[in-house]
Amino acid sequence: MSSQNPVFIPGPTNIPDELRQAIDFATIDHRSSVFVEMFKPALAGVKRVLKTSDAESFIFPSTGTGAWEAAITNTLSPGDKVLIGRWGMFSHRWIDMCQRHGLKVIIAEANWGDGVPLADYANILSDDRDHQIKAVLVTHNETATGVKSDISAVRGVMNDAKHPAMLFVDGVSSIASMDFRMDEWNVDIAITGSQKGFMLPAGLAILGVSQKAIAAMETAKLPRTFFDFRDMLNTNAAGGFPYTPPLQLIRGLNHAIDMLEAEGLDNVFTRHHRLAQGVREAVSAWGLKLCASSPDLYSDTVSAVVVPDGLDGTQLVTHAADNYGVAFGVGLGAVEGKVFRIGHLGMLTDVMVCAGLSAAEMAMRDMNLPIKAGSGVAAAQECFRDSHLTDAHHVKDAA
Ligand SMILES: *Cc1c(COP(=O)(O)O)cnc(C)c1O
Repeated sequence: MSSQNPVFIPGPTNIPDELRQAIDFATIDHRSSVFVEMFKPALAGVKRVLKTSDAESFIFPSTGTGAWEAAITNTLSPGDKVLIGRWGMFSHRWIDMCQRHGLKVIIAEANWGDGVPLADYANILSDDRDHQIKAVLVTHNETATGVKSDISAVRGVMNDAKHPAMLFVDGVSSIASMDFRMDEWNVDIAITGSQKGFMLPAGLAILGVSQKAIAAMETAKLPRTFFDFRDMLNTNAAGGFPYTPPLQLIRGLNHAIDMLEAEGLDNVFTRHHRLAQGVREAVSAWGLKLCASSPDLYSDTVSAVVVPDGLDGTQLVTHAADNYGVAFGVGLGAVEGKVFRIGHLGMLTDVMVCAGLSAAEMAMRDMNLPIKAGSGVAAAQECFRDSHLTDAHHVKDAA
């Protein structure tokens, strides 16, 4: 029996056939011109997706976590102060990494379900008169709670405090799915991986690094070898790599960027917003609530749904996997058991999302939740129909 359903976890995401074919590629010599021709467009394409012309792009064989490590080890020294907020498992893990690297971490705590505590960031930065804080770290889209934070507002707070710290943004579950503007927001390091918005297998750490962050490398004393920006820059200049490149994934990245640009980045963001709206309508039709505490925080790539008391969200996820062959995300850390997550990013259509919502409904009814069969799916259908009717009117108006 074929049981190939799409996954509804917030990464790794579904891999389009076109990308599976792109990475099915025979070995070539990575010191040949064929590799150079494959690699240079990937570096340039990453810059377009990040919306930067000033920054350098980096591609390491790693994952988002490796990109975090590359960011801090290339720019900071042991004992440096950094400011970072915690409102979910991913922001927590980045804090843990900073602490393990011997940085002095100032933590701005927020409730899991809230976003960046801007007022706290503002106070901490304006109190730091002698500019001991070297970097401000923010998780753009907290994948554990389905919360997006306003990066341009964080930059605004830094500007208001006239603080010269660098701004590092974890965009692992937002970049290539939600609006991201590296230059406009003056982000110093933007971080992502290959297995979320880029729709590829895990295996690439992808970064944009501003000239200011590149300059910080001159004095940064944290040890780094594999993730050394300088080795990358020196070899990348001629289209090469400091060690063996993951060439199939780099080839895949080129095709992924082609796909995103053929759809149009703005259309990609609009699609994600529409899919997210459909999921949110379904959640509300079920009579359930999101973990995200207010609509301005709702993520367009993942929804964390609070399960009613008495039900374990992890059990629900296990039940859906065992009985319907559909993967949802479990709750992590402080919200373990309290939520289940519906990932809606990457290669997904309205129809796929309806199927996922249908599976969630069956699983919830199996667990005796008082949910009317088809209620969430119906709400999503109407949301998707409405947006297509509107799109069709646009087409007619244009013609
Ligand atoms: C997935 C994710 C990570 C971790 O990335 P890996 O590729 O698993 O190392 C970090 N931050 C966020 C926000 C994520 O969603």
